[in-house]
Amino acid sequence: MTECKSGQCGSSQSQDAPADDAAIAQSLSKIKHKYLVMSGKGGVGKSSVSVNLAMTLAGKGFKVGLMDVDIHGPDVPRMLGLTRSPHVNEDKKLVPVPYSDNLSAVSIEFLMPEKDNAIIWRGPMKFSAIKQFVGDTAWGDLDYLIIDAPPGTGDEPLTVAQTIKDAKAVIVTTPQEVALADVRKSINFCNVVKMEILGVIENMSGIVCPHCGQDFKMFGTGGGERTAQDLGLTFLGRIPFDPEIVACGDAGVSYLQKHKDSNVTKAFDEIAGKLIQKGFLAETKPASEPDQRRNGHMKFAIPLADGKLTAHFGHCKEFAIVYTEQNQIVKTEFEIPPPHEPGVLPKWLSEKGVNVVIAGGMGNRAIDLFNQAGIQVVTGAPVESPETLVMSYIENSLVSGDNLCSH
Ligand code: ADP
Ligand code: MG
Repeated sequence: MTECKSGQCGSSQSQDAPADDAAIAQSLSKIKHKYLVMSGKGGVGKSSVSVNLAMTLAGKGFKVGLMDVDIHGPDVPRMLGLTRSPHVNEDKKLVPVPYSDNLSAVSIEFLMPEKDNAIIWRGPMKFSAIKQFVGDTAWGDLDYLIIDAPPGTGDEPLTVAQTIKDAKAVIVTTPQEVALADVRKSINFCNVVKMEILGVIENMSGIVCPHCGQDFKMFGTGGGERTAQDLGLTFLGRIPFDPEIVACGDAGVSYLQKHKDSNVTKAFDEIAGKLIQKGFLAETKPASEPDQRRNGHMKFAIPLADGKLTAHFGHCKEFAIVYTEQNQIVKTEFEIPPPHEPGVLPKWLSEKGVNVVIAGGMGNRAIDLFNQAGIQVVTGAPVESPETLVMSYIENSLVSGDNLCSH
């Protein structure tokens, strides 16, 4: 084995030639469960959750890999206190660095020529680097791969989601209302890329005052659970704020080892228990593509005239909102839209929690506004009933023709 020289590791491939799909599939083929830890924005504790969740699962005897793909803040090496460079094996694959008997980790930082260089990777380079990194890591047999994804809902997490196709999402948030708006965006993101959401974790949820012992709701609490409930998602648990997480993370010391009986350690234990149970259920359930790949709850909006889709999106008098659960239609509601003005309908439908708009025609600017709100738009759909269109969408048989309006 040779030692990785930063920036050289991984391969004969250059960053312009990302690993192909076969290499990626091979690298990930022996991993039972892949969990993508994501958040609407940075700083909510995504890396802390990834690291401690991976350690908790490893502590329960599972073989766990931790993959740090957060191109903007590859914090995993520091948090784990990894000082060793990874090795490259005979097949020129990156060998994850062992942390303990059951846990090993790699970070995209290892691909960076020098630390702090993430900022110079733009557009296609990031895409190539992420794909190459995923495809060029030799994981071997694993029960769980925990992936610390880039924050947000932009191109970078999209590349990760598209590269690791069967990953399932764990969404991390904090309790404030502003953070919860980001959760909604993450959920829409997952619906659009058809990634199943395992659940929501509320981090920094209350603090026990070290002086008086009282539970103090620093950013409020319970918002993550309410949002999960409203959107029909599993609430995986809340992790209290504990300044020791910062101290341990900065020092590369395991918080869980140091504070075995703390509320934070118990919270990770419970969350890991729920994930194990979900993983077990997924293993025992026969795989059916739509069931496994789509999140259970979705809302579709269709502009209507005479009970069927109308091509005149902006001027339609009525919308059908179709609710689905586990790929079945559960109800259809009819809504009168607010008066037509640019930008009004994307806002209105986003507030209603709509994930997908099925339309005949729509202007490019309106499509952009919907996409910015995390809503997918299908244009050129035929004049059919809303239920027929939604079922075709679910069955991947929706034939979309030309956008009937592309001004
Ligand atoms: P992200 O990966 O989302 O950017 P981090 O995991 O790096 O977030 O966390 C951001 C900061 O908050 C770090 O300094 C981390 O130590 C701290 N932190 C995360 N979770 C907690 C918590 N539950 N209690 C106290 N500090 C936390
Ligand atoms: Mg991070």
